[in-house]
Amino acid sequence: MHDVIVVGGGIGGIGVAALLAKQGRKVLLLEQLDRVGGKCVSHKKEGFHFPVFIHAFARGSKGSRAHIARMLGEEIAWTTINELPICVNGEWMGFTVKGRPIGVKLPLKDVLSLAMLALQTLPKLLTKKGQDELDRTDLRSWLQRRTDNPKLHAIVGYMAGAFYAIPYWEASLGETIQIFRGLMKGKIAYPVGECEAIPETLFTGFKKHGGEFKQENVKRIVVSEGKVQGVELSDGKLLEAPLVISNAGIRRTVLDLVGEEYFDKGYVNYVRNLRSSWSALVVHTVLSKKITDKPGGLYAKSLDVEGYAEQLERGEIPQKPYMWCMVTTNWTSSFAPPGKQIICFGCPMPFREGADWKKWADRVLESGEELFPGLNEHMIFREVIPPDYIQSWTDKEGLGFPVAQTTQQVGANRPSMISPINGLFYVGHDVANSGKTRAIGVDAAGESALECAEIVASGLGPAR
Ligand SMILES: Cc1cc2nc3c(=O)[nH]c(=O)nc-3n(C[C@H](O)[C@H](O)[C@H](O)COP(=O)(O)OP(=O)(O)OC[C@H]3O[C@@H](n4cnc5c(N)ncnc54)[C@H](O)[C@@H]3O)c2cc1C
Repeated sequence: MHDVIVVGGGIGGIGVAALLAKQGRKVLLLEQLDRVGGKCVSHKKEGFHFPVFIHAFARGSKGSRAHIARMLGEEIAWTTINELPICVNGEWMGFTVKGRPIGVKLPLKDVLSLAMLALQTLPKLLTKKGQDELDRTDLRSWLQRRTDNPKLHAIVGYMAGAFYAIPYWEASLGETIQIFRGLMKGKIAYPVGECEAIPETLFTGFKKHGGEFKQENVKRIVVSEGKVQGVELSDGKLLEAPLVISNAGIRRTVLDLVGEEYFDKGYVNYVRNLRSSWSALVVHTVLSKKITDKPGGLYAKSLDVEGYAEQLERGEIPQKPYMWCMVTTNWTSSFAPPGKQIICFGCPMPFREGADWKKWADRVLESGEELFPGLNEHMIFREVIPPDYIQSWTDKEGLGFPVAQTTQQVGANRPSMISPINGLFYVGHDVANSGKTRAIGVDAAGESALECAEIVASGLGPAR
């Protein structure tokens, strides 16, 4: 019998599985696909490589995934991205990740007001009560207290869209400050060897420390008398273990894999009502030649960030979609054959069944042309990744992040990785422990693996 079964090999799952194997535990990792990594995956076509989901990794070599790799005795090499410029209303502004966060030209009165606001806000970070208050404060109301400068509101609003895929009136100030503190310490980066380099490195560490992997779909997590017993595979086979860690998402685990009858009603309602983020449309353009040296950036034509969000909620396709763009070949040449360039665009948006994604992609490329003149002339083909495809990876609602980083779901209010069932834990982007995790995307999934390994190890008894 295994000490631990880990269900799902996303970065959270492979991370915790490898760390527990390193501690000498007998770990079985079950993944429904034929490789680990979950959403940390590229798609390959005609000699070109496209990251499907993850286009930038916060904190690079200082982030959680790199830390886990080092704990396993492995190393991930990174290409760093020093600048992500932002183009608002046709004007390019420097947004450097290291040193100065945003180089925006603002009237003196706004600069002074913001400085006052920062002075009043920052001491709160030092106490738990103050931090809780900042976590519950949304970015819009915080900004509104000192400035109505539309340019600043647009930048903060659209950045909340890019970072969390939610409107800025739902995004948390406390979380954003903490995440930016983390970003200042490391750089936004991309792994050498593309995104697969991360799960492959963690998997090497997992195998080296004696972990066992099977490609299996887990149909059910078996619970009896309030305690986990193991898992049932899709062919009906039962595998026993005193501990199961699920990387399948908290909502899927509770509602589908365990079954709501095993939890009290209040907990089921809590899990069911967790707020998910918007989804996104991703368009990769493959170009016959290099047309830009920029690493990427953010693009917003309109300063009316609220009107833009309302338009999306109504299901309208904006004339000028807000988007982030990443010139992937400027960081990692292996994405394309020599001399070619790939520019990737992404638009955060609410999921809508049956939306016209082709029309959306056409609009994206019209705006793309403004950012990168010559884009359409030199395009060989485009690869569109619509929200319907993203939906097939997440759950029924076509989401970016199944648990969004809203004011109600961060810090101490992030869903706990400790389930009410004895021996059942969750790991991955959605969950954390005791308010410690302050990260986004894959970095958050890695943080949860570190936390989960700590908690589980402390309850497991001596290693064999
Ligand atoms: C459009 C989009 C863009 C994004 N861009 C970025 C970005 O630029 N930077 C960034 O850091 N993050 C980004 N993210 C977020 C990032 O992809 C996720 O936060 C992260 O990959 C989640 O990792 P995870 O370990 O929580 O789970 P996942 O990657 O979702 O892994 C879960 C694993 O569990 C497996 N599984 C599920 N159910 C079962 C079962 N029953 N049996 C066996 N296996 C099962 C799945 O196959 C999968 O391998 C983006 C997400 C989206 C949707």
